[in-house]
Amino acid sequence: MSIKPGAMLGLLGGGQLGRMFTMAAQSMGYRVTVLDPADGGPASSVADRHLHADYLDSDALRELGSTCAGVTTEFENVPAESLRTLAEPCVVSPAASSVAVAQNRILEKNFLAANGFGVAPYAVIQNSSNIHNPDGIIQQKRPELFPGLFPGILKISRFGYDGKGQARVSNPAELDTAFIGMNREPCVLEKLLPLESEVSVIVSRGFDGEVATFPVSENQHRDGILDTSIIPARASPAIIQNARDIAVRVAEKLDYRGVLCVEFFVLADGRLLVNEIAPRPHNSGHYSIDACVTSQFEQQVRILCGMPLGSTAMHGAAVMVNLLGDLWQGGEPKWEQVLRHPCVKLHLYGKLEARHGRKMGHYTVLAESTEAALQLALEIKQSLEC
Ligand code: ADP
Ligand code: MG
Repeated sequence: MSIKPGAMLGLLGGGQLGRMFTMAAQSMGYRVTVLDPADGGPASSVADRHLHADYLDSDALRELGSTCAGVTTEFENVPAESLRTLAEPCVVSPAASSVAVAQNRILEKNFLAANGFGVAPYAVIQNSSNIHNPDGIIQQKRPELFPGLFPGILKISRFGYDGKGQARVSNPAELDTAFIGMNREPCVLEKLLPLESEVSVIVSRGFDGEVATFPVSENQHRDGILDTSIIPARASPAIIQNARDIAVRVAEKLDYRGVLCVEFFVLADGRLLVNEIAPRPHNSGHYSIDACVTSQFEQQVRILCGMPLGSTAMHGAAVMVNLLGDLWQGGEPKWEQVLRHPCVKLHLYGKLEARHGRKMGHYTVLAESTEAALQLALEIKQSLEC
């Protein structure tokens, strides 16, 4: 049963991903109610209605459930139980069970490893004694790897993002200190790998199992935050195909309904390891707004509403560059430097305060080739920074 335009859709979370979902839904004739505990957020400022309440607020959830035909999320850390509650009165995509796996690094890694997807060697650290007595540790696959996990990265199991909740550690003493720094919350210790590159795939899967992947994105990070995405990724056809196949299999194993991002590490020998998954559209898929027939956000609307998927074909090559708050240090950036190039598209998220490392917007360069797009993207970046 499909949800017809004119209906109200509910969205949990109020950030930029929600803003772009809301705009896509509205352009297809839907209305959107945003549940966001914050005021003046990127999504609520464009939504038809804003429920100003906590994600666990039972009155707000009841209101959302009784006024919306379908509910989705843009925020990875939305409590899975809220999605479960909403699944009774209305259609929910993605399901609480999928979100619960993706929002917890321990469940996520264990799910991936148990289903045969390659991941970086890791160990689960539940308490300090795991560090001093590695024999007792819950560890996947190869127990002898624990000393071999150094140098490694300690990653908190919940609420980490953009490199936050992570610490590089070289020995058990540093691990101990880092674990205390994470308030002894359950963590994953992961081996630091030499990466050839990083790529990601946005996969969309409908209620009838219809599936479509977006072109593979090559992602460059700076200080743990996505900086630049290059599409199509500069990788061999075999790696590209493999990434798309693995992403589809991950979505199928999760019985996923919605838009999912699968992030990969590419090793020097061409092997792909799954880094993490995000149960929503993703920063590395923003290029699809300007460069593809259907954007990742429109796809999210189509799936939620039980409509057929749109084409994920690309018009040409694209490079997306994130605009972080640091750029505002000397006042409003000179947007003419971006807009004087007719094939560059600027997106700003309407955030009122520009903070260090905060994602304020992005621009996408469209060109015939990735080389041309990349060259122009870097030129613009330099002109904005000076
Ligand atoms: P986040 O949730 O912050 O995106 P990630 O686990 O994706 O966390 O880590 C952010 C970035 O840090 C990755 O995209 C990658 O560049 C780097 N990184 C993370 N884990 C590893 C690793 N095991 N080896 C090498 N680099 C890593
Ligand atoms: Mg990541």
